[in-house]
Order: sequence, then structure tokens, then C-alpha cells
Amino acid sequence: MILIRVGTLIDGTGAKPIENVAILINGDRIEAVGRAADIGVPEGAKVIDAPAATAIPGLVDVHVHLAYSGIVDKSAFRAELAELSYPLVALRAASYARDTLLHGYTSVRDMHAPGGTIIDLRDAINAGYVEGPRVMACGLGLTVTGGHMDQPGWGDHASFRDMTYPCDGPIAFRAGVRAQLKRGADFIKLNPCVSFRKDPDTKPYRFEMNVDEIRAACEEAHEQGVHVGAHTSGGPPLRAAIEAGCDTVEHAHWIDDETLELMVKRGTYLVPTLLVNNTSSATAASDPSMSKGSKRWSELSQEAMWERLTRAKRAGVKVATGSDAGFMLAHGVTNSGEIELLVEGGYSPLEAICAATATGADLMEIDAGRLIMGKLADIVLVSGDPLADITILRKRENLQVFKGGREVLAPSV
Ligand SMILES: [Zn+2]
Repeated sequence: MILIRVGTLIDGTGAKPIENVAILINGDRIEAVGRAADIGVPEGAKVIDAPAATAIPGLVDVHVHLAYSGIVDKSAFRAELAELSYPLVALRAASYARDTLLHGYTSVRDMHAPGGTIIDLRDAINAGYVEGPRVMACGLGLTVTGGHMDQPGWGDHASFRDMTYPCDGPIAFRAGVRAQLKRGADFIKLNPCVSFRKDPDTKPYRFEMNVDEIRAACEEAHEQGVHVGAHTSGGPPLRAAIEAGCDTVEHAHWIDDETLELMVKRGTYLVPTLLVNNTSSATAASDPSMSKGSKRWSELSQEAMWERLTRAKRAGVKVATGSDAGFMLAHGVTNSGEIELLVEGGYSPLEAICAATATGADLMEIDAGRLIMGKLADIVLVSGDPLADITILRKRENLQVFKGGREVLAPSV
């Protein structure tokens, strides 16, 4: 048993912080939480005293790509895809996973990995071969031929094995779902609705899959007991994706009020990915090779994403934090930037922490994310007060991380 005594507790339920708290851990679970004076020191418990620290639940990032390095330059990104074998991608991902965990993230959802490599990383973490967060992996995202993830632009003689999983037609999407689940996927990633840069002022989004395809994939996934996470952009195609059964919508810059209401009714999660949008917009603005339509799309998406966040919050939509780390963003050091941006977008620091803990854990259906009796003991001790300064979560040296009741230690070299 471990007894952690801290100055302040933020339990992730949204309740106000309480002071002078003890958390008693038995095995991988929280056995008791309460005022230190009430809990005392059970016999044989190892005591960790951190009077200046704030305990928060382990952080959850519901949108990462551990198979990617975060490199921004497009040609360099492609070179990595071409040059690294899948085993090497998985081994590199193991170091990203450890770094992510040391930055306080005890759970992540991986949103597509060439070769399905993050399924193997998940298994290696669960087996104790390597150290990392709890990982939920989708294997390969399902995309239409030439779609968002079936990246066009390679010479037509170039071919890659298992880099994406193109499907066309409802039957192919059903088969795609089955193939990913056979490989060991925990959920399904679809790309039903994408950005459209031809005339963004008129229509900045478009369907990529048709409704029959979306419905078939969602039905198959739900029948087999897994959820569907969808890359989306907005407008009527986004609404159609939600109606057809997508459970979490990523990016989703443009959402009208009726669709927000529908999301509340259906329990659909919004993963606004503010950080990657900021990064890609900054890159677009300074990239002379980018088309006028792309630059305009970036400007419009920036305006829309903040305004949409305000209305989503007001409507009561469940919002979880997903950084898109791996895509233009480094793993570990950048993930908590998403929490900072929620605060910039009008969330209180307490609300933003709950989005990054309890809501994320609910989305991933893991029994963590709240520091209450019976939950998994995924806990971060933060030096200082994150409600006074949310940016202290950025630095790994401010964090002492416990996953399943075990302290995560940085490697000595
Ligand atoms: Zn992504």
C-alpha cells in the first residue's frame, strides 16, 4: 500500500479542490481518498509526503499519433514514411510513449499508425516490455481511395504496404472494420468529412465517404462493441457523420447549433484539436508554396474553431483534449498545450483539467480519470498550483507520475 499526502487535491469530478488530502493506493486501485487526518497511516503503508503538490488524475490525450515524429516539413515527413521499417517505427514510438507518460499522460488514444504498429506497442506496454501510457489503438484508419489518409502525391510507381487502408463502398468499409479488429484494434478511425480548399469562403468542407459507407462502418464497429472516431471538418457532412453513428468527432471546426444539440442528445464527443490547428495555420501563413485557397481555409478554420468552442461549451457538449501530437507536434512536451488552449478558449483551469482527465477517460472507457475510491490509481503530483498557472503542466520536472499505483521513473541515462 502507498499513502500519498498532498497539499491540494483536484479529483477530476469538477468538485472544488480540497486541502491536506491523503490518497491510499492498494495494488493498482485507489482504496481511499479524503482528509489526511481522517485516513491516518495504515500499517505497512509506504508514505509519500508532498505538501506543496497538487494531485490531479493522470492526464488523457485522446488524439495522438505515436507512429509519427511531429516533423513539420512535408517532404521530411514523407521521407520518414519511406525510410523507416515498421519495427523501427514501433521502437521509436516506444520512446515517444515513455516521454508522453513522463509528461503526466497516463492514457492516450492513437488515431492511425502505418503497419498498425501502435497495436503492438500497446501490447508491449501491457506486457511490461516497455514503459508507456494506457494505449487505445485503431490500427490503420479507414479512408477512401485517394482520401485524406490515403495520401495522394507520391509518384504512381511508388507503393507502400499497410500504410493506409483504402476502402470504397459499404461492403469494403465493413470488411475494413473487420480487418482492423482482427489485427487487434480497440476502436475504428474513419475519415467521413474533410476540409475543402477550393473555395473555402463558400464551402470549407466536403464529404469524403458517402453516408452509406459511414453507416456501414459504424454499424459494423458498434455491432462488434467498439466506438468510431471520425476525422471531420464541419457543416452538413459533419452532421451526417454524427447521424450515421460516429461517436467522437475530431477537429470539427464548423458546427452549427442544431448539430451541437444533436451531439448532446447522442452523447457524441468533440475533440477540438486546437493546438494542431494553431500550428498548421501558422505554417500555412508563412509557407509561400501554399495555395491561396489553403491559406484562406486556415484563416477561416481559426476563426471558426474558437467560436465553435464557445458554443459547444454553452450547449453542454462533452469536450475531450486531443493534441494530435506526432502530426506537426512533438510528443510529451506539447500535449498539455491543448489544456492551455482550452483555458484560452474560455474554460476555467479546473474545467480544462476535467476535460483532460475525466472526460478523456470516459471517452476511452477506462476506469480512471477521477481520483475517487475504486478507480485506477493513475495520479499526477504537480509541484505548485495548476489552477493559478496551467502552464506548469508543461514541464516534466514539475510532475511525479503514478500509473496503476506504480510510480513512473525516468530512465537514468
Ligand atoms: Zn490526427
